[in-house]
Amino acid sequence: MLKIFMNCLIFVLFLLAPALLQAQKRLPIIDMHMHARTANHYGPPPLAMCAPVEKMPLWNQTESWEEALAKSPPCKNMVWSPKTDEEVLQQTIAVMKKHNIIGMLGGKPELVKKWMDAAPRRFIPGLDFRLDRATGTATAVGDGSKFKLMSPDEMRVLYKSGGFAVLGEVLNQYAGIAPDDERMEPYWALAEELDIPVGIHIGGGGPGEVYLGNSKFRARMQSALTMEEVLVRHPKLRVYIMHAGYPMLDDLLALLFNYPQAYVEVSVIANVEPRAAFYRYLKGIVDGGYSERVMFGSDQMVWAGLIEPAIESIEKAPFLNRQQKRDIFYNNAARFLRLNPEQIAQHHRMGITSSKRVSGKTQKSHNKPNRDRKQ
Ligand SMILES: [Zn+2]
Repeated sequence: MLKIFMNCLIFVLFLLAPALLQAQKRLPIIDMHMHARTANHYGPPPLAMCAPVEKMPLWNQTESWEEALAKSPPCKNMVWSPKTDEEVLQQTIAVMKKHNIIGMLGGKPELVKKWMDAAPRRFIPGLDFRLDRATGTATAVGDGSKFKLMSPDEMRVLYKSGGFAVLGEVLNQYAGIAPDDERMEPYWALAEELDIPVGIHIGGGGPGEVYLGNSKFRARMQSALTMEEVLVRHPKLRVYIMHAGYPMLDDLLALLFNYPQAYVEVSVIANVEPRAAFYRYLKGIVDGGYSERVMFGSDQMVWAGLIEPAIESIEKAPFLNRQQKRDIFYNNAARFLRLNPEQIAQHHRMGITSSKRVSGKTQKSHNKPNRDRKQ
């Protein structure tokens, strides 16, 4: 009797084995919109964010917009930023390891380097860029450092020395500077010449952004069509539109149709717009036939807690099939970034979290270098 029972148990375990092995593997996700930030980048921490926002704030003008904004409508999932720079870094890396995320990391070169050193295989170095404000300073708050614009020559040197691999996030929209502004021309030419992928913010700021310090921010510049002249002049430029030109869907569809090289990523809109509005937008892009040009992004800033709700928004999207989800999470970004087969294989290996038994032998994830385990 015992023997029969044992045989049955072994048989059941045999059937379950593939599922158990699967559970030890996390397919990689490429997050095309991350930032290396200090804890106080957006003001004194802790700061709250809704993920997702359920209702938009309202201003009746009896108090300042900043005061009214501080009383934003509550939400079910409130995410708080940590108090120290180290916690911002460590919390972000922890979520990345849990979900096997590789992130395009914008920021100032010094801080990007610090984050890269902490988890070298988890990040692709980016470069935040704004023509009128210090690199890495996306917001009105800023960090108080003296502004000196990085020249195209300096950018060339930084790129060639490995200081960054993606020019992003380009944040000129906060300064009311259009993509086709003549001051940007040498940078577009440089990116095209050196084949540097570029990510540019085209979408919303905060609600009432214009009253929060970025007085030149304009809602009409949320249109993806602001990129048109750049794409005409630089057909070889590899560019993706961060925040997908939300909420101007028709403008985006026109751009994607006419410029088949253009990609988008969906960061922030998965969290700071009500989920139904985000789904309406994303479904419009997918229904338009562009699911192979949508990439995942979180724009986690100082909130590592924004990453998981963003992942969940794609995983739970009822109109996406399994292939489309994998494309958005990984395949589209791998193609856009022109990752080679070895890089892709490595990202998959990084998702193997523990040793596993295969055909009676123990196969350890020995191809992971030691430094990877410290991440
Ligand atoms: Zn942005």
